[in-house]
Amino acid sequence: MEEIIRKTLLYKSGVEYADYSLNHAEGCSHGCTYPCYAMMIKKRSGVIKDYTDWKKPKIVSNALELLDKEIPKYKSKIKYVYLSFATDPFMYKVPEVTEISLKIIKRLNQDNIKVVSITKGIYPKDLTDKKNYGSQNEYGITLVSLSEQFKNRFEPFASPIKERIASLKYLHNRGMKTWVSIEPYPTPNVIKQDIEKILEAVSFADKIVFGKWNYNYMIGNYADQKTFYNEMAYKVITFCNKKKIDIHIKKGTIDLEFLKEQALPHKQTYYKTLLSYNAV
Ligand code: SF4
Repeated sequence: MEEIIRKTLLYKSGVEYADYSLNHAEGCSHGCTYPCYAMMIKKRSGVIKDYTDWKKPKIVSNALELLDKEIPKYKSKIKYVYLSFATDPFMYKVPEVTEISLKIIKRLNQDNIKVVSITKGIYPKDLTDKKNYGSQNEYGITLVSLSEQFKNRFEPFASPIKERIASLKYLHNRGMKTWVSIEPYPTPNVIKQDIEKILEAVSFADKIVFGKWNYNYMIGNYADQKTFYNEMAYKVITFCNKKKIDIHIKKGTIDLEFLKEQALPHKQTYYKTLLSYNAV
């Protein structure tokens, strides 16, 4: 696997629910076609040539040395480190990436720094070893559909859905904190599906993050998208409240202004519920 050297690793993220973050690989073998926002940025800035280039990740070979230097500098400011925004720490069937991700998590946890991770890959069972990995960590997966056909189209080289859920559940069953990102959620012109079935499949998780799909013309083509995302957010909130699961609805998913214009019989309850979870 190709390697690169970086000058810095840890950085303060500007993303709404993140604190510090790091990307210890350049590119991602999962090759999502939503498209991948990180790939678009890297392409625009000339770091990668194209999609083929993006799918061949390069490891940051000096990531652990950089962490040794940077942890003392940032430790007092860090609430947690998010892995990762511009790559996937547990790329499916890429053991080199998994190996370095485990070392990074262990190194951060040694200094009592919590790690929050997200993957479309498979979590290694090693993470349940409490001698090496802190119990404060939070492990998440992205899951926007239960359909393997959908996955093959939009997350072609990511892990199969059932395996992904099973690996998260394994961590949950051994006392780890888990979360699920249902984002970018597709509109019915892309796939007709029941969000409650997805929620049921991951109802063991401690937290659900829900968000609309951006950067794709198919979503823009769906005329009723504002109504649709308000309704889906309402379903997620109602489900999570019933199951006592924490919720985060991503910025721009709920459209309260649009809801005000709609004549709905149950508008008051609907409005109040969405208002209380609207990230602005
Ligand atoms: S898993 Fe994440 S980083 Fe990797 S291609 Fe998909 S969206 Fe991009």
